[in-house]
Amino acid sequence: MNVLLIGPPGSGKGTQGDRLSDRLGLVHISSGDLLRAEVEAGTAIGRKVEHLMHAGELVPDLIIISLMLRPAIEAAEGPGYLLDGFPRSVEQAEAVRYAAGQVGIAPAAVIYLDVARDELVRRILARAEVEGRADDNPETIRARLQVFDEATLPLVAHYRERGLLHEINADQDADAVTAEILKALGVA
Ligand code: AMP
Repeated sequence: MNVLLIGPPGSGKGTQGDRLSDRLGLVHISSGDLLRAEVEAGTAIGRKVEHLMHAGELVPDLIIISLMLRPAIEAAEGPGYLLDGFPRSVEQAEAVRYAAGQVGIAPAAVIYLDVARDELVRRILARAEVEGRADDNPETIRARLQVFDEATLPLVAHYRERGLLHEINADQDADAVTAEILKALGVA
């Protein structure tokens, strides 16, 4: 099974991605983690994206697509992928649809983690104390939420129209969210 996980920053994509990939045996591929690894390794891509990530902006489509595509194709040839944080815009979704159509690895379901805005900010600030991520500060959080509303939220309607969307109330504790996702996927 191939699954996409979308949601605003702080909605629990990383946590739910880990749990679902464990439970379903899928390969968890996080776009944010791949980008942070590039920054940490000081690669040409890392140097290009660092300031964008720091500002809470999206990195260019071609860069993120080039990083995600091969691992996603490899995962789909095996147990299936769980993509977390990608696609993040309708343009990226169209690119995925094109590439997935070429090699026959379309997603079977899209999970949207929905959380109230004030709860998101509370969670991100709590995470900042534990993880110390450079982009978990009040100014960048505002920018990331705005980018989510403008670029990523249209994906919800996009996938709903295609009959792929499962909207999950992620304003609950992590166990309840996982249970709701598994039920939506028909595996609970
Ligand atoms: P995340 O860990 O998913 O919150 O992503 C951290 C940052 O990485 C985002 O704020 C963006 O700067 C960048 N990023 C992650 N995924 C994407 C994507 N699909 N498209 C563009 N930029 C991305």
